[in-house]
Formats: sequence, C-alpha cells, structure tokens
Amino acid sequence: MKKIMTPGPTQVRENVRMARSMVTTNPDLDPDFYEYYKDTCQMLSELLHTKNTCYIMSGEGILGLEAACASLTEPGDRVLVLDNGIFGKGFADFVKIYGGEPVIYSADYHRDFDVAALAAWLEQNHDFKYAAVVHCDTPTGVKNKIEEICPLLKRYGILSVVDAVSSMFGVEIDADACQADIICGGSQKALSAPVGLTLLCVSDEALRAMEQRKTPIASFYANILNFRDYYKNKWFPYTMPISDIYGLRTALENVKADQDIYQRHAVIAHAVRTAVAAAGLQLYLSDGYCATVTVVEVPEGVDSAQLLKLMDEKYGVMIAGCFDILAGKVIRLGHMGENANISDVTLMLDALDNTFADLGYPLQASLKKVFQQEIYKK
Ligand SMILES: *Cc1c(COP(=O)(O)O)cnc(C)c1O
Repeated sequence: MKKIMTPGPTQVRENVRMARSMVTTNPDLDPDFYEYYKDTCQMLSELLHTKNTCYIMSGEGILGLEAACASLTEPGDRVLVLDNGIFGKGFADFVKIYGGEPVIYSADYHRDFDVAALAAWLEQNHDFKYAAVVHCDTPTGVKNKIEEICPLLKRYGILSVVDAVSSMFGVEIDADACQADIICGGSQKALSAPVGLTLLCVSDEALRAMEQRKTPIASFYANILNFRDYYKNKWFPYTMPISDIYGLRTALENVKADQDIYQRHAVIAHAVRTAVAAAGLQLYLSDGYCATVTVVEVPEGVDSAQLLKLMDEKYGVMIAGCFDILAGKVIRLGHMGENANISDVTLMLDALDNTFADLGYPLQASLKKVFQQEIYKK
C-alpha cells in the first residue's frame, strides 16, 4: 500500500475509519444526535481554547472559507486580504464573488508577515469590515503570527477570518488569545479524518455582524447564521453527514488523548528542515516555518514531475508538488496529524534520498540519516 505523505489529506487511523461504519440514526429527527453534534462542537471549542461556538458543516475546507466570506461580505464591503501565499491571495476571489471589494496587502512569500510593517500600514489604511489571513499557507508552508495579527486588526475594529485548515491540530491554536473572529479548519489535514467536513469557530461579534447586514446572505449552504440556532430549534439546514461526524469525533478524541501532539510536530518539522539543509537542498522559506509541512525548492536540473512519479511508483511514497506560481518549482513534504511520526517521516526521507540518487542528483548528506541523528540526539 502506498504511503501518503502529502500535506493533506493525511492518513486516517483505524479507529476513525471504524467509527464511520457505526450504525446510524436519523440525524434530522433524533434528539440524541443534536446532543452528540453539540458535544462534538464543544470538544472542538475546548481543543481550540475558546469560548466561541464551533460548527461542523458538510463540505471540505474550502466551504468554511466560502461560508465565512458569504456570511460576512455585503456588496461594496471593503475586505483586507493579507497575501503572503497562494491561499492568502486566493481569498480575494471569494470576496469578489460576493460583491465585496478586496484590498490586497502583499508581502514577501518567503517568510511570515512582518507584523510591525503591517501595523505601520494599518495606521494609514484601516477602513475594512474584516480581514482574511492564513495561519499556515500550505503551498509554501509559511506560518503567520495570528496571535499578533488578529489583535492588531481588532484595535481598528476589523474582524478577522483565519484559514487554519492546514495548521489546526498540528500547531496549537489559542483562539481566545488570538481574538480571531472566524477560524476555519478542515477534517483532512492534521486532524486526520477523511475529507469532507469543514470546522468553523465563530465569535459573537462575527455573528452580530452577520445579523446586522443590510442585505441577505447570498447563499443557503454557506450561510453560517442557518446553523446558529440548530440546538434550540432542533433543526439543521440540511441533513448532517452523520458517519463523517462519527469519524471526526473519534479523530478529535485521538487529538485530545495525544499529550505531546504539538511538541512532536515541532520536533519532527525541525529535524526535517535540518536534514534538508544538510543535504544541500534549499528550503523555500527563510523564516516562519509551520510544523505541518516542509517546502523544498526543486534543484536545477531536476524535473519535479519526474521526481514525484519515481518516488510514488518505485518507492510507494506520495509527496506533493505545488500549483499556481509554484508549479514545478517546489516539492512539499507533509508531516501533519497521523503522518507526524518518526517512522513514516523516515520512510519518506529514505525514499527521497533514493529518488535523488536515481535521478543522478547527488545530495550532500542523507536526508534520512540527518533526520534520525537530529531526532535521537540528546
Ligand atoms: C487544504 C487547504 C484548504 C482546503 O482546500 P482543499 O480543497 O481541501 O485542498 C484551505 N486552505 C488551506 C491553507 C489549505 O491547506
């Protein structure tokens, strides 16, 4: 069987797969399911250290981003789009779909946002309803300091929408300390449940902004307000995907029981970066590394498509290339969620060592060896 070491979707543990095969009830009509859904959402709030309400929607990570945008954006609203990566910039497209006016603040793609520079810019430019920022922009693996950026926005009364799809549960998020208004997560990244669910964590202030709109929310499926009173009214806007939610609940229990989950992600990510540098390869980023993914430049003379194909077909390990402006330029090593374990990462790096050798590209050191030295050094 192939080893999937992409930056999401990730491997799914057996207990999560089993949970998805449990006998189901009617999730529209059974009051027990409303309790179960509410408990699961509360568990999510706890794990994200927040008093804010969480919701689980049917649809993968993108739905959460679109729901945040659809629910907040009114025609003519100015929305600040913080762009230091492909997902960051991409949010502007959602804003346009819903009639908003995106204002893009672009910064170096090779590092996290310089918060002081952003603060200086905001002094002159702060007439925005909300801002969108990506916690981990997966195509480059950059991690932005949402714990500084969201409170900074709040000082100007700007709400924040955080795309934490590929960081959530690989990097600890203290949502209340961040003062983020909407945090979006997905089931298939570090949470390691199958693809299909969006997780949303929404502040009262964001809900108020949605209620106080002058125009109706231009979506049904992506309308967050349709979920607000589900428990009181015992009504969901559509039939909840109960088996997916059983799986998600078990994945959340796995995270909760995993005492050193964040430490393990950090240690593995650091060791991978050390190995990449020792091998003479170039990390895409100069700063702001996220613990869930490592992005490596494809060296001159190496064809990334050929590398990925060989690694997959000959060694049975799948890693990812990239898309958009980084297509063909980088490879991405996923080490998030269930994939963040020493043996799978060792296997991946061994396969990468061998693939580079097959391509006739000499590495200065073995990725696998340096990784293991780093991991096991005292
Ligand atoms: C994966 C991901 C999403 C969701 O997109 P997919 O269609 O599931 O790939 C959104 N934002 C970020 C930063 C992601 O990594």
